[in-house]
Amino acid sequence: MKEIVLLGSTGSIGVQTLEVALLHNIKIKALSANRNVKTLAEQARKFSPEYVCIADENKFSEIKLLLNDTNIKILCGESGLCEISSLPCNNVVNAIVGMAGFMPTLCAINAHNDVALSNKETLVVGGEIITHLAKEKNVDIFPIDSEHSAIYQSLLAGKPNKPKKIILTASGGPFRGYNAEQLKTVTKEQALKHPNWNMGAKITIDSATMMNKGLELIEAVWLFNVSSEQIEIVVHPQSILHSAVEFEDGAVIGQMGVPDMRIPIQLALTFPQRFSSSAKPLSLTDIGTLTFEKPDENVFSCIGLARAAIKKGGNMPCIMNCANEAAVDMFLNDRIKFYQITEIIGKIMEKTEYKKELTPKIIMETQREVKEQIKLID
Ligand code: NDP
Repeated sequence: MKEIVLLGSTGSIGVQTLEVALLHNIKIKALSANRNVKTLAEQARKFSPEYVCIADENKFSEIKLLLNDTNIKILCGESGLCEISSLPCNNVVNAIVGMAGFMPTLCAINAHNDVALSNKETLVVGGEIITHLAKEKNVDIFPIDSEHSAIYQSLLAGKPNKPKKIILTASGGPFRGYNAEQLKTVTKEQALKHPNWNMGAKITIDSATMMNKGLELIEAVWLFNVSSEQIEIVVHPQSILHSAVEFEDGAVIGQMGVPDMRIPIQLALTFPQRFSSSAKPLSLTDIGTLTFEKPDENVFSCIGLARAAIKKGGNMPCIMNCANEAAVDMFLNDRIKFYQITEIIGKIMEKTEYKKELTPKIIMETQREVKEQIKLID
């Protein structure tokens, strides 16, 4: 029986991972959340893990109280997340949102645990460190992000050939086709309504600004060892072709399926085997038409910011990511307008000190520095 550690179990990916685990008899060794003690305690009672960890230390006494009649070991904070990520298991599923997922990923790899990675921010802020360490420790990083899962599968089909180009598909988000003027008046409610996917708030806003595609571009550079120039972003509003790879001979291999994250989550946990899933089967005739278009990078300039960040390298993708996390948070708390998210990221990328070298310490320092810069803007 497989056994996993699940980080971020109370979120959108976390809950779907538990569904997959239940369906396929996968044992849960540890669960974690940030502040949602109620759901974490319910999950702990249902799945009986050995450990739970609450990231927010202020919530430690609450979760302890909720589980005081069980034998579950309760941990908290980043050290707790690192401890559960280092437990012997088949896979650490990282479904934390934001760069808080970086250190636990690092700990999992250091402990020789394979990682099923949903937390794209890990690779955006520290892809160089993570991929080098994974190679050194002979650890597999299996992507959960649907696009990267599709690319992984397409590359496998074309093995041993290297890709000529990666076609990274994007739904275009709720504001596809909008011009810059129209983006000035969009509301939080509109931005939180993704046309195809039901996801956590942060990634839903990232999809609306298209920063999500920028983050995914950087994620793909590190996962598949390609240059950013080899990646073409293509808007595909139906979200059926999850991404594709073009090979030297002009053949393009892609992976299709209904937009349901349980498919890539399950594959990450059962690879290379495929089992039945709770997702609806794909009917191409019901869908009828698949369309593709170029993204409007003048309107959705986050894509350009991400291309610039990965080209510059060092801590620049980390600066961009921290600025994005802070700006999205400000937007979700009604402190800025939607169009200001991109403006703020651009400003912070100009103002924060660039460092060519990248270490975990520099990543943490960069995060602190961006927070200071944001205070000056806020
Ligand atoms: P959610 O916001 O739904 O869930 C995030 C999870 O992380 C929750 O369990 C949350 O706990 C926990 N968390 C939040 N902040 C911290 C922190 N500082 N330290 C530790 N844990 C924390 O996010 P999603 O599930 O939507 O996304 C998770 C990751 O997967 C993101 O990186 C996203 O980009 C990626 N992804 C998501 C997809 C989706 O369909 N949702 C698709 C592809 C990728 P709590 O509940 O207590 O706040």
